Amino acid sequence: MTLSLATKCVYMPDAVDSVTGAVNTPIYQTAGFAYPNPADLENVFKGRDSGHVYSRISNPTIADLERRIAYLDNALGAVAFSSGLAAIFTTIMVLARSGQNIVVSNALFSGSRDLFDETIPQLGIDVRWVDITDHNHIKALIDDQTAAVFSEIISNPKLVIPDVKALVDGIGSIPLVIDATLTGSTGFDAVAHNVAVVIYSSTKLFASNTGAIGGIVVDTGCFNWGQARHPDVRSAYDRIRGFAFIERLRRHGLNNGGFNTSPMNAFLTLVGLETLALRYERICQTAQTVAAFFDKLGIPVRYPGLATHPQHALANELLTGFGPLMTIDLGTKERAFAFISKLKIVKNMTNLGDNRTMVIHPKSTLYWRHDTERLQQAGVTDGLIRMTIGLESPDDLIHEFKEALQ
Ligand SMILES: *Cc1c(COP(=O)(O)O)cnc(C)c1O
Repeated sequence: MTLSLATKCVYMPDAVDSVTGAVNTPIYQTAGFAYPNPADLENVFKGRDSGHVYSRISNPTIADLERRIAYLDNALGAVAFSSGLAAIFTTIMVLARSGQNIVVSNALFSGSRDLFDETIPQLGIDVRWVDITDHNHIKALIDDQTAAVFSEIISNPKLVIPDVKALVDGIGSIPLVIDATLTGSTGFDAVAHNVAVVIYSSTKLFASNTGAIGGIVVDTGCFNWGQARHPDVRSAYDRIRGFAFIERLRRHGLNNGGFNTSPMNAFLTLVGLETLALRYERICQTAQTVAAFFDKLGIPVRYPGLATHPQHALANELLTGFGPLMTIDLGTKERAFAFISKLKIVKNMTNLGDNRTMVIHPKSTLYWRHDTERLQQAGVTDGLIRMTIGLESPDDLIHEFKEALQ
């Protein structure tokens, strides 16, 4: 029987420590692992035996987090990184090489936008920006050197949603990489939609209490890595078949790059995951209530759960729940600042998918360096407030918003 996600959040086969009976994953707070017999260490180094040698490369607590996420996603495997951005960076570095190109949605979280604008081109990879809903343009940009297509599942903060089915069909043998930070495993089923790679900033919905930065790359198992455009992945495929991408992520990102997370952060993320399904359900309900509240007042509000959202029908089909994020537009920076200044329960800070409700004025913060074109692509205006809903009572939130609007 296939278990529901809520059950899988607190249950996994073989998760209990067979020696001690511990149900919580122990925090293996160690950099290295000793092997009294040199032949044993040789065998682990050479991959003949499984085991851990050094926590930059692997660690039992981190391995448990990776196993847990692969299990939740019904995926082939997962690799944990020090942050969401380290996860994205490593994925692109593994999939594309100098002289190749990637097609990237122009509606992105500001940190990802900066990574693709400033850093990825330094690897000699051509970044081709596109409106991810414009399938003709995507087709026109793709050539035989296109190594990946990248989009967020709900873009932060414009709330653009890609038609994943049409994208996968349209791009054929090119891997589609989806940043599903805004839905987590609960809101979007990547395997069912044939997505090649899913990335999460585990800082957000997974850890959920502003306690641990982290990122996860998931290989869904849907993509044939023998078709990868990067020769390095193809030669790994010739050696180890389906595990080529996972192995290359570990080799380049962890062994060589050192973008590993810490055992403590992996543990905190595991604790967060136990309540993921429950929290997500509650967050989506409250977000819907709050969005409807602003909508009823005639304040411009963008939320995929509202019928006024241009892609509401697609969101309904593609997602389970509509996520924690919405934006309202108060027209001017002054009005936005006045509103934010009056909030007490709601925090003025960056981060999202947290247990706490948060707001931020993107134009003066996350996007302050960005030019007019990029602001427009990201949907950032003078009076825009980004809001991410947490676990507070919807009544208390609405009461606070009502007061702040006066
Ligand atoms: C926060 C965020 C990231 C980056 O994750 P970090 O853990 O902060 O590095 C990437 N994508 C999206 C959609 C995000 O919201």
